[in-house]
Amino acid sequence: MDRIQHKILVLSGKGGVGKSTIATNLAMYLAHIGKRVGLLDVDLCGPSVPKMLGLDSKEVHKSSAGWIPVYTDSTQKLGVISIQFLLGDRDAPVIWRGPKKNSMIKQFIQDVCWGDLDYLIVDTPPGTSDEHISVTEELLKYNPDGAVLVTTPQGVSISDVRKEISFCQKIGLPIIGIVENMSGYECTNIFSSEGGRLLAEQCSLPFLGKLPIDPLLTTCSEKGMNYFVEYPNSSTLVALKQLAEGLESHATSSTTTSTTTTQPAIATSD
Ligand code: ADP
Repeated sequence: MDRIQHKILVLSGKGGVGKSTIATNLAMYLAHIGKRVGLLDVDLCGPSVPKMLGLDSKEVHKSSAGWIPVYTDSTQKLGVISIQFLLGDRDAPVIWRGPKKNSMIKQFIQDVCWGDLDYLIVDTPPGTSDEHISVTEELLKYNPDGAVLVTTPQGVSISDVRKEISFCQKIGLPIIGIVENMSGYECTNIFSSEGGRLLAEQCSLPFLGKLPIDPLLTTCSEKGMNYFVEYPNSSTLVALKQLAEGLESHATSSTTTSTTTTQPAIATSD
């Protein structure tokens, strides 16, 4: 963990809002621009990262130094560790009880040979479930940069993210900003938009940007295809690029801040 420059948790108040999609595509984008990236999928409720990256037939191996990440290609820019790699039967639910889950979470966080990384992106379990709390508490020990909160624009998701904001504030996890996913549909106005931006304003938190509903993104996630390679000129890619740039500038400013002051890099609301 001490060889990782930036550790970023991707959180959401509830499942299905696109947390794994955002975590995976941010990691892919950062690797695409030449960063060394680790993607840790500890979403025990629904580990979907391996499928999104076309790695779901892979198995993870353990050396004497710890788990070896599965790399997406020979450049080894993007390494992945997912709870899914450990499940023999891919369709089996993770039904471990508390103590076993907690010890697995600890191992996943402590015992991976990531090597030198620019970014570790962590896809966490949604909501304030037991495992969500275990993951965030465990990661807090390693001085993470903070959390990116994912919401959809609708009120139901927004209210869950409000709970997530107060959870982060209670445990002392800095909030890097809010991302609004599935924000509007290019052809129609039937889906809402702006909820995430308004929430960020109300809570005095940075708004990192929004990602539209893009059926091609779903297709790529389903088929484990690389969206950046398949659709290099899409507007979704521009939106993802803005998100990643927001993260990068936060990471740069927090590095500078941490060497000059002990104040948290991001101000959260009172
Ligand atoms: P979560 O991790 O919050 O449970 P996922 O990332 O697994 O959510 O996304 C749930 C579903 O929504 C997936 O099928 C995913 O492909 C789809 N999805 C997520 N974001 C988008 C988007 N911006 N456009 C289209 N489909 C999306």
